[in-house]
Amino acid sequence: MQRVKTDVVIVGAGPVGLFAVFELGLYDLKCHLIDILDRPGGQCAELYPEKPIYDIPAWPVISGHDLTEKLLQQIEPFHPTFHFNRMVTSLERLDGGGYLVTTDEGEEFECKVVVIAAGGGSFQPKRPPVPGIEAYEGTSVFYSVRRMEEFRDRDVLIVGGGDSALDWTLNLQPIVRSLTLVHRRDQFRAAPDSVAKMTALRDAGKITFQMGQVTSIIGRDGVMQGAIVKGPDGAVEVTADRMLPFFGLTMKLGPIANWGLNLHENLIPVDTARFETSEPGIFAIGDINWYAGKLKLILSGFHEAALMTQAAKRIVHPDDRVVFQYTTSSTDLQKKLGVG
Ligand code: FAD
Repeated sequence: MQRVKTDVVIVGAGPVGLFAVFELGLYDLKCHLIDILDRPGGQCAELYPEKPIYDIPAWPVISGHDLTEKLLQQIEPFHPTFHFNRMVTSLERLDGGGYLVTTDEGEEFECKVVVIAAGGGSFQPKRPPVPGIEAYEGTSVFYSVRRMEEFRDRDVLIVGGGDSALDWTLNLQPIVRSLTLVHRRDQFRAAPDSVAKMTALRDAGKITFQMGQVTSIIGRDGVMQGAIVKGPDGAVEVTADRMLPFFGLTMKLGPIANWGLNLHENLIPVDTARFETSEPGIFAIGDINWYAGKLKLILSGFHEAALMTQAAKRIVHPDDRVVFQYTTSSTDLQKKLGVG
């Protein structure tokens, strides 16, 4: 297989990896992005494509899907190359400088700089302890809502007491046939506003709240008809053909743990001037990194991408002067963007 040569390999095509292409592109650095998902957007695409985000600067409200689309539009002038459905398995320092990045498909990328924008790593939903639930996964049981339409006119059972369970109760209620929320307690770990709205729906008879735990699924051949919920007053049968358990995500760092980088509780410590890891030329931005005061917000990752780029440029083109310019006034940057 032919070895790809590029300036920068970005591990992860989540929002932060995507924006890094823009910042690196302004400084003439060419990028290849690799992601185990089958499309760009990371958590925004996989976990909450239709949910509104309210804290992206200058976008009072934008969905995870639309944010991804806007980022793709913004980086178009830099023609990044995407490699989906493959996992980066190893990073190896090359004798002459730079790194060799290898995927589980056996591809090799030679680059001067590696940017790890791997979010929570290979994030996987926690499976609730319901016997035989595996047989219903992907047909009746889902751990995320990719398209709300798939739940239209369905009898939906949502299990959990956190933000995801409550948010999806509120978002799906208007389009489903019936909705039952199951949680083991009458108290919730969700935003108070969401809890208040859910309680109002329950009091109005628009959803059913059942305290207890799902102990078994009724159905066959992956087609669910209901579930047994055991609560303080005994067992009840709930009619449902779709179940959404929200028991949180297990963040699995995956192969990154074997790349010889210093780690802090499965996150990669970086300095806050360059966002470089313990290995020179390997940077970590977005949810995957750690430093004092870190906030796992998309806007933090965008800032980190801008500062990382200044350092990456000096590694890839050590003889070039790094000139700070505004996109509003630099004809050079506007030419790169194909505007003006
Ligand atoms: P991610 O989005 O996690 O993307 C990382 C990508 O790396 C993934 O696609 C993964 O597949 C890939 N990857 C990992 N390891 C490998 C490997 N070895 N090989 C190949 N690919 C790999 N943030 C906000 O700012 N505002 C909000 O309102 C907000 N709401 C949220 C709501 C929910 C329900 C959730 C779950 C998160 C929310 N967040 C919000 C957090 C936000 O989504 C994250 O901060 C953001 O996605 C981090 O972006 P990232 O690019 O660093 O990582």
